[in-house]
Amino acid sequence: MCKNCKITHLHNHSANSLADGASSVDRIVQRAVQIGSTAVGLTDHGTMLGTYDLYLSAKKYGIKPIYGCEFYITRDGVPYNERVKGYHHQVILAQNMTGLRNMYTLSKYAHGDGFYYKPRIDKELLFHHSDGLIVTSSCLAGEIPHLVVSGKHNKAEEVLREYLDIFGERFFLEAQFRKDFPEQEKVNKWLWDIAPKYGVKVIGTSDAHYASPDEKKEQEILKQMGSTAKDGERDAFSDGTLYLVHPDEIMQWYGNSDVVKQWMNNTLLVEEIVENFSPDNGEYVLPIVELPQDKPITIRSDDHDAYLAWLAFSQLEMIYEVGTPLYDRAMTQLDFELATIKRMKLTKYLLIIS
Ligand SMILES: [Zn+2]
Ligand SMILES: [Zn+2]
Repeated sequence: MCKNCKITHLHNHSANSLADGASSVDRIVQRAVQIGSTAVGLTDHGTMLGTYDLYLSAKKYGIKPIYGCEFYITRDGVPYNERVKGYHHQVILAQNMTGLRNMYTLSKYAHGDGFYYKPRIDKELLFHHSDGLIVTSSCLAGEIPHLVVSGKHNKAEEVLREYLDIFGERFFLEAQFRKDFPEQEKVNKWLWDIAPKYGVKVIGTSDAHYASPDEKKEQEILKQMGSTAKDGERDAFSDGTLYLVHPDEIMQWYGNSDVVKQWMNNTLLVEEIVENFSPDNGEYVLPIVELPQDKPITIRSDDHDAYLAWLAFSQLEMIYEVGTPLYDRAMTQLDFELATIKRMKLTKYLLIIS
């Protein structure tokens, strides 16, 4: 039993992480409350589908929601829109509304031209849209842990510096709590050793794929569906710790270690720097929509309505013969529809899906 031990679980997957998360968002929030947390993060694989559910559940149970996503990020500088296999995991959390909007923007790229087996971003996109984002070194599939496990420590340090240059104090090294997983122990040790050199904080996460221990079976069945793994084959799930672990239990695994206590305390710092904001402010929260370079110069780069009208009228002239009664009628109808779209503030949405 650890007096005053508290944790904010920041890295959690819900059932929105396709076939890789057993619990509903509501269950995750409920569990966080049950173990005494005052905030909880949601970091589904490649999707932000659970954002609104997290907002609603957190409001219901009276805790702070931390909106996040575990993005897929290309390796070795491969541009997001190139069809090359291989990716790392990248955990990202929104510190404020600007961050959430940037995450939506990254997600738009990932699910558009970035989609190749998985919705992928690249480092250039991430760095370009870094405002309001908190990032971590992520799980064993993250770039830094992957390099550490491969013994490429210098390269891992180089990548760490690259992230610190962009994110500064919004970058955290992520140790993960495992009972028996040697690769993770190796990474945890490396992170802990390197942290003071750069003054970077280490946080502890459970990388939860189900809310509580009693949901382990559901998660196992989900994982086995469509998996090529043979019975008894070892993976990250083998030690059965991928749930929102109670702080007392964590301390028990690590023999009341002060280091581990510090990793837990640092998650509270993240909770503190995340603003308590609502993604539901009565306005649509959409990704940033940049108009293409080759737009007519008479249209300002922030005039999305004019650009949509230009697109629509250009098409109209290709379908109907200019000057005919049919063209005139279509033009009147189009005018009405564009005015309706503008009034309902749907212009950017239509530009995204067009
Ligand atoms: Zn991961
Ligand atoms: Zn994860």
